[in-house]
Amino acid sequence: MSPAASDCHRNQRRLSPNVRTTFLLNLMVVATITTIPYCCNGLSLYKTSPIHRVAVVGGTHGNEYTGVWCIRTIEAQQKELKAQYPSLDIQTILGNEEAHLENKRFIDTDLNREFKCDTLCGVDGDDVVVMEEEEEEEPASREARRAKELDALLGSKCDSDNGSEIDVAIDLHSTTANMGLTLIINEGDELMTQGAAYVVGKCPGAHILMHSIPEREDRPTLSSAAKHGFTIEVGPIPQGLLRHDTVLKTESAMHALLEFFQRKNDGVDVQAELKETYPDGHVPCYRSAPARRDGEISGKITWPCDPVNPNFPALMIHESVQDKDFSLIKVGDPLFVAHDRSVVPYDGSHGDEVYLIFVNEAGYYYASSGTGIGVAITSYYDLQTGMLKEEKENACYTPLP
Ligand SMILES: [Zn+2]
Repeated sequence: MSPAASDCHRNQRRLSPNVRTTFLLNLMVVATITTIPYCCNGLSLYKTSPIHRVAVVGGTHGNEYTGVWCIRTIEAQQKELKAQYPSLDIQTILGNEEAHLENKRFIDTDLNREFKCDTLCGVDGDDVVVMEEEEEEEPASREARRAKELDALLGSKCDSDNGSEIDVAIDLHSTTANMGLTLIINEGDELMTQGAAYVVGKCPGAHILMHSIPEREDRPTLSSAAKHGFTIEVGPIPQGLLRHDTVLKTESAMHALLEFFQRKNDGVDVQAELKETYPDGHVPCYRSAPARRDGEISGKITWPCDPVNPNFPALMIHESVQDKDFSLIKVGDPLFVAHDRSVVPYDGSHGDEVYLIFVNEAGYYYASSGTGIGVAITSYYDLQTGMLKEEKENACYTPLP
């Protein structure tokens, strides 16, 4: 068992009787599937179970309306979906209903940063967070409490005996950045990495973005609470807005993924089909920069903030990189503009040449979400294992289509 996993179970032992009762109730109401031991090595976990139970989540960020529209559509079309994907049990979850009702990204903290095992499993029945090292308590945010509920529904990370884990959580997001259709997956999850390759075949032009956080218990995202997580991100679209084309793009990726599961369950050798597209077994992708600050999913180029309002940037993103997601930036290229109209160039903090992602994502104005512009490099992953190729083999930055 990894140190992080050990922490996970130490925290779990502290849970109050109330929380344990909640887990037992969840066990009673959720259908049982194969029990798979949690923790230790997330990679071995990926190689076992069939896909039957799928949760589609919308509104993890309350002001991203696309996902909420999509789950409402699923709820209205349960019969048609059952006919289309007979082997799948598709559930829907409104991630952050309280924030959605207020048309806010979150109420207290970013829900999609609340699923790291050490903090998630420290929320106890009295709604306080028990800190492992400091041995002190602090009030849990509303999102921390919601994360605890969602974790019990989806899995969970904090209950190693819960045999009712959801097989896949598909988390639907939208972004104000010009990310197009982007599929976000985790390194080593071979099922999801093959799924992403399949979806790209059905949705030409989609980008694959891979995060490299090998241990599932270290991932802060909602989708990490299920056995497998897959995030669909579509933009640009303003917060709190619905657009037909954005919904269609999101649904096209979601249905392609559901079709992938259904065809695998039907016994189709989908991997053999994928090998025809990728004969060398290497799938091109973008790899996000490693996180540098606590709570981040990936590394970002951050900006200073207004001294009065920490959510208001003190530098503005330069027009030359606006809408240029997945474009290369080099040291010395314009990046920000100051109030005196001076230009602040890229300083090479993440490498001499990097690709920018989530450029001017409004959600990233919040410290709780991690302020800044995302950074990535081009890479490849192994279709068989879902593992990224060695860094040294990626020394040459090859632009992707
Ligand atoms: Zn989001």
